Amino acid sequence: MAEHVLVTGGAGYIGAHACKALKAAGYIPVAFDNLSTGWRDAVKFGPLHEGDLLDRASIDAAFKAFRPVAVMHFAALSLVGESMKNPGRYWRENVLGAANLADAAVAAGCLSFVFSSTCATYGDQDGVVLNENTDQLPINAYGQSKLAIEKLLADFEAAHGLRSVIFRYFNVAGCDPEAEVGEQHVPETHLIPLMLDAIAGKRDALTIFGTDYNTPDGTCIRDYVHVSDLVDAHVKGLEWLKAGKGSRVFCLGSGDGFSVRQVVEASRAVTNREVPIVEGERRPGDAAVLVSGSHRATDELGWEPQRSDLATMIGDAWRWHQSAPYDS
Ligand code: UDP
Repeated sequence: MAEHVLVTGGAGYIGAHACKALKAAGYIPVAFDNLSTGWRDAVKFGPLHEGDLLDRASIDAAFKAFRPVAVMHFAALSLVGESMKNPGRYWRENVLGAANLADAAVAAGCLSFVFSSTCATYGDQDGVVLNENTDQLPINAYGQSKLAIEKLLADFEAAHGLRSVIFRYFNVAGCDPEAEVGEQHVPETHLIPLMLDAIAGKRDALTIFGTDYNTPDGTCIRDYVHVSDLVDAHVKGLEWLKAGKGSRVFCLGSGDGFSVRQVVEASRAVTNREVPIVEGERRPGDAAVLVSGSHRATDELGWEPQRSDLATMIGDAWRWHQSAPYDS
């Protein structure tokens, strides 16, 4: 009998890719989503349970209906810029939502929890190697809210024995190479999809946020990791917990940093089209450099990224971008 896994945010970008990976690994992914930013059309690999993390009864109902063996918690507000303008929403929806979910998991006896955290919890630490032992000093409300949830999970382990695998993501990019699911946000704020929109003529230009950072070309450097590789790590994290291993934090990045200008150049090469750009102001809350310096996921989970080179990520995103987007 296939086991169920409750995937919060299962109708969203990363959650939908996780559902595909879970199904391929023999599980039944249950997408728990309020469809506020997710897409009904993205739920293709298991049932959809419409619910909201601020509504405890809807979470309890999902545990009761599906008796999942584990939770993968993706649902969250995740925009750095928005979090600086509206921190209350981030604290309320991310932190309170996670507390409700963890309480419901414990009440249902489901004590394996895989959580999406972020390198935004590190803040802006010039020259410091970012790995699982690095101090967490977030500089935006998004990072603060994710750090609070990491701490919440430690408290839940001490009080209730809830074991967690926490993944600190660097920049997730690309789409399912088979284009069954992809990245679609309204409004879109992320670099690569915005750039593909500009290339396709769906917007006038890509604005580069800041050209005066202390980096070789003055633009921010990020570590991009393919969403399919990222969700493979989640399946390995689930197996880690199922094997009875203890709570663990893993950074997920490729280990290579690329500036915004380098991503623009790579997009030009992959699509063979010009990228209209405008140079703009810095975006509040952005760190200059965020690149993973960790090998733990490879060493301990056996994670080997397959598609996390820039050309492959942009090529997969471009193919999805040109296919039919979600309607609902
Ligand atoms: N960025 C940019 N123009 C945009 C969107 C993003 O220059 O229209 C930059 C942003 O400042 C950051 C990088 O691209 O350095 C990645 O930003 P994104 O929003 O994709 O991800 P984040 O780093 O916020 O998770």
